[in-house]
Amino acid sequence: MLTWQIVALGLVIPILAMAASGTKLESGTCPAAADGDSGCVGIPPPPDQARYDNYRIYNVEFENEEQIALFQKLEDQSDSLTFIGHAREIGQKLSILVAAHRVADFADLLETYKLKHRVLTYNFQEKIDRNLKEVQPEDIDALQLDWQHFFHLKTIYEWMDKMAAKYPDRLTVLDMGTSTQGNAIKGVKVSSNPKNKAIFIESGIHAREWIAPAAATYIINELLTSQDPQVQRLAQEFNWIVFPCVNPDGYKYTFEHDRMWRKNRQLFGTCRGVDLNRNYPDHWNSAGASSDPTRYDFAGPSAGSELETQRVIEFIRANVGKEQIKTYIALHSYSQMLMFPYGYTKERVSNYDDLQEFGKKASAAIKAESGRDYVSGSLYETIYPSSGGSMDWAHSEAGIPIAYTFELRGPPDSQDLFILPAVEILPTASEAFTAIRTIVNAAAEKGYYK
Ligand SMILES: [Zn+2]
Repeated sequence: MLTWQIVALGLVIPILAMAASGTKLESGTCPAAADGDSGCVGIPPPPDQARYDNYRIYNVEFENEEQIALFQKLEDQSDSLTFIGHAREIGQKLSILVAAHRVADFADLLETYKLKHRVLTYNFQEKIDRNLKEVQPEDIDALQLDWQHFFHLKTIYEWMDKMAAKYPDRLTVLDMGTSTQGNAIKGVKVSSNPKNKAIFIESGIHAREWIAPAAATYIINELLTSQDPQVQRLAQEFNWIVFPCVNPDGYKYTFEHDRMWRKNRQLFGTCRGVDLNRNYPDHWNSAGASSDPTRYDFAGPSAGSELETQRVIEFIRANVGKEQIKTYIALHSYSQMLMFPYGYTKERVSNYDDLQEFGKKASAAIKAESGRDYVSGSLYETIYPSSGGSMDWAHSEAGIPIAYTFELRGPPDSQDLFILPAVEILPTASEAFTAIRTIVNAAAEKGYYK
């Protein structure tokens, strides 16, 4: 005890001296004390923030059914392994974020069952640390919003307000109402003519996919300020309704507490969150969704149970006819995919051939612009089966003929997962807008907006 006290005193004194001199303390430098007293008067405790120190990303490739069955079981059993997708088929490559305390275990399994694999990242926290440095302070002047940094919800909303003040004839701020935790779900409408057909862009339904809201603000800005005559024409001939962040509670949570949070923040006893993109009332919870609230793809207690889902549904129902919404685009990351309905079944939508053709044209346009490969196809065929998605609902229930879900950068074997470096915001957002413009132009040629 005496020895400990000497050691503790030795630590506490320099720390207090640093605090007194105004030196910023690293979190976690406060020594714990045996008597329950923190011994750190005046020193703030570390923030309540999830950390991913020494978490690894493995990319595994399945070569036989035994390995697939093993990994399906593993996903069910462990909440220390974050699967980015599900084990499904031979030849499939799957990324898995492995908690630091499971690395030895996991490596042993790979060895034992002879799985082909690569380690993509050895310390995931480094990616997050780098990413958090790319966030501008919440109280920055919103007109300084750019596409070289990431921004808090508050800044994005203030930016929309200030842009509406700057472009009062063309930009209107919209409000769908509040989220589960009382945050507004705000968007904008860019319009030059009330008679135009409308394109609806939904973004940020998955909280950690920060590139999606960034791409949405980029598109709004381009529609208002671009000097490109082709962009100006699309801004004049169509009305654009863009909601950059339809999951504001989750988005805020990723800045404040856990960069990897995906769902909304609804409480279910001991855990939180519904995957809002599994909650829509269209073949709800029939495929690729979970009934377990602890899971990342929890479909919710019932179809359309969540306030955020209801807000979008009410908005679309009220406006699909009035605003003539003919196109619905949902922005996500990552994997570089341009996908159309259905997500819940391999059956084909009635305009499958058109959507396939537009998607392929959009992929080709991106390839020509940046050299990046984006795969196109139905969501079921392209990424993995999933039900209760907003796109399926928009197409089947709301009757919007042109509906896509984009997975933006990075590639399927990305070392960053959802933590895309800020330097990639501009090229990624530009790819998204190029794809949308290509799809809209191609659909116009086929008479979808007559
Ligand atoms: Zn997503």
